[in-house]
Amino acid sequence: MDMRYTPEQVDLKRRAAGYAELLMTYENQAEDAGGPLPKDLVAELTRAAMKAGVYAINMPARWGGAGLSLLDQVIVEEEFGKATNCLWDIPWRPANVLAHGDERQREKYLLPVIRAERFDAFAVTEPGAGSDPSSGRSTATRTEGGWLLNGEKWFVTCGDIADFLLVQADAGPERQPTLFFVDKSAEGVAMTRVPRFMHSAVNGHPEFTFTDVLVADEDVLGGVGKGYELTKEWFTDERLMIAARTVGAAERALQLARGWALGREQFGSRIADYQMIQAMLADCAVDIAVNRAYTHQVAWEAGRPDTDPKTLHAKASTAKLAASEAAGRVIDRCLQIFGGRGYDRSYPVERMYRELRVDRIWEGTSEIQRLIIANELIKRGTRVLALPTR
Ligand SMILES: Cc1cc2nc3c(=O)[nH]c(=O)nc-3n(C[C@H](O)[C@H](O)[C@H](O)COP(=O)(O)OP(=O)(O)OC[C@H]3O[C@@H](n4cnc5c(N)ncnc54)[C@H](O)[C@@H]3O)c2cc1C
Repeated sequence: MDMRYTPEQVDLKRRAAGYAELLMTYENQAEDAGGPLPKDLVAELTRAAMKAGVYAINMPARWGGAGLSLLDQVIVEEEFGKATNCLWDIPWRPANVLAHGDERQREKYLLPVIRAERFDAFAVTEPGAGSDPSSGRSTATRTEGGWLLNGEKWFVTCGDIADFLLVQADAGPERQPTLFFVDKSAEGVAMTRVPRFMHSAVNGHPEFTFTDVLVADEDVLGGVGKGYELTKEWFTDERLMIAARTVGAAERALQLARGWALGREQFGSRIADYQMIQAMLADCAVDIAVNRAYTHQVAWEAGRPDTDPKTLHAKASTAKLAASEAAGRVIDRCLQIFGGRGYDRSYPVERMYRELRVDRIWEGTSEIQRLIIANELIKRGTRVLALPTR
């Protein structure tokens, strides 16, 4: 077993860290603006990400992406997670399942996303269907040459800047869950509300309605009935990336809290000299160290050809659950170490306190991750705990 980064990974981490530091210089501007940054600035940051080789990291190099393995993506996303205000959305990460598109879909949808000319968003959740997507009420009804889409989608991350959406809807009388490419400019698509959330993210999470939207047959992704399969594949990767980003955010918070504890004096001594503060610092270090190791392990396993996708799915849930909950504990302690300043929005720990909360909700809540892990344990035993032997 060799846990060292390769020289290429050391270089990748350095480039990702340099880019994340650039993003951090715009955190206060994003916070003051309530999220969005000016378009020309986003374009400049996009070019910088491309130059650093950290744009579209999950797409193959032959299509213009950075062509990174899941392990390498974890290395990058850990650094990105240190930036607040979801600035890590700027170095775009196309939905992994776009890679399943046929040649025409690739030319029309994916390649322009990799070139930063267009943007995608994934729309599964509905007002009545969150944790249980099978209760979704969006439908696709057969019509000449395609489908008529009707329904409503909520919380569509980056839907405000997206050019097209991947919409999950039940197709035909058999109600087969299917993913449809839907151009946002298509007739019948309406962005009805962009709610204000707890975080001030650079991009929003709007709500959409679809009224008799005509979708051509050729704009079905992966075939009719493949919706859940593809969504599950998207979840596995994205849950691992949430684990990576929350580890990164927690590490930054700890670095800031350590620095503050060493510099701040009360009762004639550095607060770092007080054992109640030391205990909080130590607990943070433990939360971060174990979750970093596990997230790297699962990402490494994901890149092996013999990894069972079902067990991998449960391992990604384990990483997401553990890391997001640990990051919640870490940021709570770090804010406490900052005292009143930790409650001031101009301090990164305050923003992280608000921002890390959603990591226990999106891409499946903590309760749903527990259900996935328990289901795997019941069906296939404790192999979800095992390290690969071959
Ligand atoms: C900022 C943000 C961005 C998002 N981005 C996207 C996106 O891009 N695309 C998308 O499709 N969705 C997105 N979502 C939706 C997100 O995935 C859902 O909010 C999440 O899956 C939970 O669904 P829900 O909000 O409907 O809660 P519900 O499913 O109604 O759950 C409410 C509570 O009940 C619990 N619960 C539900 N079922 C069970 C059970 N069987 N056992 C125990 N507890 C249970 C849940 O854990 C939760 O605590 C986003 C959400 C947010 C907040």
